[in-house]
Amino acid sequence: MTSPASQDPVAHEGRTLQRPGSVVVVGAGLAGAATVAALRDQGFDGHVTVLGAEGLEPYDRPPLSKELLDRTAPAPLRDEVGADVALADDVRLDDAATGLDLDGPHPAVRTATGVVVADAVVLATGAHAVVPPTWRGARTLHTWRDATGLREALRDGPAGRRLVVVGAGWIGAEVAGVAARAGVDVTVVEAATAPLAAALGPAVGSWTVPWYDAAGVRLLTGVRVAAVEPGQVLLDDGTSLPADVVLVAVGARPSSGWLSGALPLEPDGSLAVDDAFRVLGTDAPVVAVGDLAVRTSPRHGVVPGGHWDGALRGPSVAVRRLLGGVPASADDLTPYVFSTQLGHELALHGHPATDDDVVVRGDVAGAVTALWFRPGTDRLSAVLSVDRPRDVAAARRLFTGPDLPVLDRTRAGDPDVPLKAAVLAG
Ligand SMILES: Cc1cc2nc3c(=O)[nH]c(=O)nc-3n(C[C@H](O)[C@H](O)[C@H](O)COP(=O)(O)OP(=O)(O)OC[C@H]3O[C@@H](n4cnc5c(N)ncnc54)[C@H](O)[C@@H]3O)c2cc1C
Repeated sequence: MTSPASQDPVAHEGRTLQRPGSVVVVGAGLAGAATVAALRDQGFDGHVTVLGAEGLEPYDRPPLSKELLDRTAPAPLRDEVGADVALADDVRLDDAATGLDLDGPHPAVRTATGVVVADAVVLATGAHAVVPPTWRGARTLHTWRDATGLREALRDGPAGRRLVVVGAGWIGAEVAGVAARAGVDVTVVEAATAPLAAALGPAVGSWTVPWYDAAGVRLLTGVRVAAVEPGQVLLDDGTSLPADVVLVAVGARPSSGWLSGALPLEPDGSLAVDDAFRVLGTDAPVVAVGDLAVRTSPRHGVVPGGHWDGALRGPSVAVRRLLGGVPASADDLTPYVFSTQLGHELALHGHPATDDDVVVRGDVAGAVTALWFRPGTDRLSAVLSVDRPRDVAAARRLFTGPDLPVLDRTRAGDPDVPLKAAVLAG
């Protein structure tokens, strides 16, 4: 058990916090590993405990889909991003937290093997893939174990294997492309009218429709899956799709069940945090980072988790503030998602809203960028670049001020004008 040893008081928005002498990090994924790295990078020399649930050194998840069929070992975050949990004092990679007690003088995390008491708790338990419990034999893809099972089923199964992917979101599209390239017969079933509709809206999402055909993937949109049974997927319209392997990629839910009763959870299971990633609704020194947290950004509004970049960079902000650092404008991280799917590179900066206006920059059949503007204004809310790396770099620089940038829509829509040159003052 860790002995709490609080040090200097730290003022925080009217609340006086103790600078922690010990920290327990719950979750050994990207956000957990990045937290440990940030603690040590920022000079914290107190006791750090890490609790994980997978029994594996923290590894990177994006390669699980992008390199599904080629990868034979996880990509350790120690190598990928230099985040090494070995910098912690007590690393328990297979000792999942089962509860959090905030009633005592110090927060206490319960596990199957005991209790860890510390001055501060960093919650980084991420998310897990959603799948209806009655869908028998359906697979999901979130962990190395999932990837191994899916790879073996696709690679070592009978010849002419048929994969049905339910959901044409980021992960479904990536796996469909990788599997089709390896000769698997792939059908993707999407309930919305277009792929990526939840993230990009149906109009921009529909730009990706021809990619499926070009990759040899059958795409069915606007149809719902009624049931998954051994050997087949049944659609709402009565169609039966024969399937040797079924991957359900319909989204993820925060892994917060173990926190119920201890902290106020949002309806989707996430934890609302402030600009310092402190959990709202409690005075206890508890921080949430990565996919578990939902933050309100002064620039972008509500920013849910689910993004690699936020899980990597959020912990540095959270740790700096936990250790007494003052707010900085750079704390307001821009949401950023990247994806390699069906032969295309996508980068989304910002957070498009459903009622934003879309300006198209380039040719939707080729290299193209979508620019979202707040309705009827010149305020740019998000940028999606498809195979236009220059716009990726420009977009990153656009979202650094306290407010959304203001751009001349006409110039911004001209693919020959650098995005930066379309920026208007104020
Ligand atoms: C297949 C795949 C591909 C992806 N590709 C991209 C991409 O291309 N671009 C992008 O932006 N994002 C991508 N993502 C999303 C990105 O990987 C996540 O946003 C990121 O991993 C979130 O990190 P996290 O640490 O918050 O959560 P996680 O990575 O989910 O890690 C949380 C860890 O906490 C552990 N845990 C859970 N409960 C407990 C408990 N009670 N006690 C202790 N430990 C617990 C979990 O086992 C897990 O190891 C992808 C995700 C997946 C699954």
